[in-house]
Amino acid sequence: MALAALLAPVVAASQTGPRFHDGHFHTTDYIQREISPLELLEVLGDGVGRVALMGIPLQQKWDAFVSGERAPDYYLRSDASLYYYSFVDAALAAMVRALPAAERDRVDPMITGFNPTDMYAVDHIRRVLRLYPGVFTGIGEFSIHKEVVSSKTVGHNASLRNPALERILDFAAETGLVVMLHSDADVILPRPGDRPAHFDPLAELLRRHPGATVLWAHAGLGRFVEPTPGYAGLIEDLLEDPDLVHLHFDLSWDVVAEQLVAPEERLAAWADLLERWPDRFVLGSDTVVPATEEAYLANFEAWRPLLDRISPATSERVRLRNYERLFDAARRRVRAWEQEDPGASAPGS
Ligand SMILES: [Zn+2]
Repeated sequence: MALAALLAPVVAASQTGPRFHDGHFHTTDYIQREISPLELLEVLGDGVGRVALMGIPLQQKWDAFVSGERAPDYYLRSDASLYYYSFVDAALAAMVRALPAAERDRVDPMITGFNPTDMYAVDHIRRVLRLYPGVFTGIGEFSIHKEVVSSKTVGHNASLRNPALERILDFAAETGLVVMLHSDADVILPRPGDRPAHFDPLAELLRRHPGATVLWAHAGLGRFVEPTPGYAGLIEDLLEDPDLVHLHFDLSWDVVAEQLVAPEERLAAWADLLERWPDRFVLGSDTVVPATEEAYLANFEAWRPLLDRISPATSERVRLRNYERLFDAARRRVRAWEQEDPGASAPGS
């Protein structure tokens, strides 16, 4: 009740039904601890309607030579490496199948357990679709350039220039799987005046894949990668680009919310972007295995200054309708692809 009152101003326009859908919910953490179906339903409560569920594809190694007995549970708590943990997809499929049937329709599970530098990544994604037909709606969140994480991940660095990524986006276009792609717009400490290092390569990559529906995680920002002066203008260039109408922006992660709701000029610029392009933004929590409903909903509360700044109609699209449009379309297309897939096993085989 107290929590509902807290959130009331954000959602004054729609008093019936859920207040939010969540485009970005992590069901596992960096050491693959998992939320249970019951815990998931508890934190969603009545306030959050639908949710895109994604594991975390990288496992933080507990290397005793590095950490001794201090078992790390986050990538910033150890210098040891991260490695791709493909079992994450099987664990998520099992969790989703354990949900009560009446709740299954609320979730859009995502495939994450592939290495985006591997030309075989697509084979993994296809294998997961075939093993778990009717379950998955998308791929991601997977990371290409990500502060700290990229340099800790085993193997050579993921890159926007890697042909393996072209194959992944081709396959997303073929199947309709919605893509949650994390790639920081910039390096941690850019030279003043430089264009964000990864910004143009990302735009070029996406222009080559007009059939793929892409959500750019956190609009390219992060804990350390901050918006450079004029960043909202660069985002607007992408929004105006007729070859990038398939690109959408994930507004999630409380540390990113903090960067965008202040100072005043930045908040005003982002409110203006949402108002002028109301169909291109999807709100999410980027929560990682939340323990309580209150802790979970705080991730939405972080965006309140921005949501309060836009019209009720725009807010409703960003909180609810854009999710429905993108994920419903993805569901339809992926189910149709599964039906027509010549490699699908016959029932009972
Ligand atoms: Zn995330």
